[in-house]
Order: sequence, then C-alpha cells, then structure tokens
Amino acid sequence: MTSGTRLLLIGPPGAGKGTQASRLASAFAVPAISTGDIFRDNVANQTELGLKVKSIMDAGEYVPDDITNAIVADRLREPDAKNGFLLDGYPRTPDQVAELDRVLAAEYEPLNAVVLIDADPEEVVARLLKRAAEQGRADDTEGVIRHRMSVYSAQTAPLIDLFEERGLLVRVDGLGSVDEVTERILNALAAAGVVA
Ligand code: AMP
Repeated sequence: MTSGTRLLLIGPPGAGKGTQASRLASAFAVPAISTGDIFRDNVANQTELGLKVKSIMDAGEYVPDDITNAIVADRLREPDAKNGFLLDGYPRTPDQVAELDRVLAAEYEPLNAVVLIDADPEEVVARLLKRAAEQGRADDTEGVIRHRMSVYSAQTAPLIDLFEERGLLVRVDGLGSVDEVTERILNALAAAGVVA
C-alpha cells in the first residue's frame, strides 16, 4: 500500500493547470504527471507514439482512451509515484475515470481530492491566444482552441459532477495571478483536510 497525497487537477484548456500543477506538486512533494506533456515530449522526439498522436493533438481532439490509459498506468507504476502523485489533464473521459479507478483500487490508496480550476470560457480563449503568440503551440490557433473548449465541455466537464458526488471535488476560481490561484488551491485543499 502507499501513503502520500493523490490529487487530480482538472479544468478547461487555458485555465492554468500546468503552472499550478508544478507548484502543487512541489508543495506536496509528489510528481506532477501531465498527459499533455508526455504526449508533447513524444511528438518533439518523434517517437512512435509521438507520430501517432501528433495530428490528433494538432486538431484539438483527444488521444484515444486505450493509448492514454496505458501511458498513465505505466507512469503510475514508476517508483516516484508510489508515494503520491498529481495527475494534470487526466482523466478526461468516463473511460479514463474507470481505468484510473481500476489502477488505484488494485495498487494504490484512494484519491485525496480532485481540484477543479474554474474559468470563464471567453477568458481562457483570450489567455490561450496570448500563449499561442508567445509559445507558438500548434494546437493554439483560434479555431483549434475553440474546438478544444467544446471537446472539454462535451467529454470532460461532465466528470465534475461525478467527482462532486464522490465528495472529492475542490473547486477554485482560476482568475487572478498565479500566486493568488496557488494560495486559493492550497487553502481550499486544507479546508477539505488535504494538507501539504
Ligand atoms: P493539455 O496540455 O493537457 O491541454 O493536452 C494537450 C493535448 O494532449 C490535448 O488537447 C489532447 O490532444 C492530448 N491529451 C492530453 N491529455 C489527454 C487525455 N487525458 N486524454 C486524451 N487526450 C489527451
């Protein structure tokens, strides 16, 4: 069995998940595991996986569940995740939730909390366009951004209710400075009994 803290971070694209994930991971001394980063690394290194997922990511679609689930299950088996982890951007579909439930039930203690970084869609589209100008991500053109938002609304937003029903949801307003949002998340987690 494991100890440590097991967290999920969900929210619309552009809500600031990546930035908050690394800060929270440091605060809780757990690895931040981002499926988006894993896929982007594979694309950059032109691995077999990278070649398979590049066009899917560029179009703003979700990578198929079987591929995504296998990657996360492997990553969670690495030694550094045995004492807790923060999953950023996974699970995003009902099938991914079912697979994570299965992996956790077999090999880990349950999740401590699911942090939702809430943000207004128009605000995050504006943020993503700014990031596109700064970093030039292939999936950050306006059309793709809007598509990613609609994929999120259709496939991932419904998971919020599920985590709420499980009593795991910690909802935080994502508007504000990076420091403000981090502090808000840590306070909300502490109020839910999850302390760094
Ligand atoms: P992110 O950086 O988390 O926004 O992820 C970037 C892209 O990677 C997404 O638009 C998807 O194409 C893919 N991706 C990341 N995580 C997942 C996931 N859990 N399920 C399916 N596709 C994902």
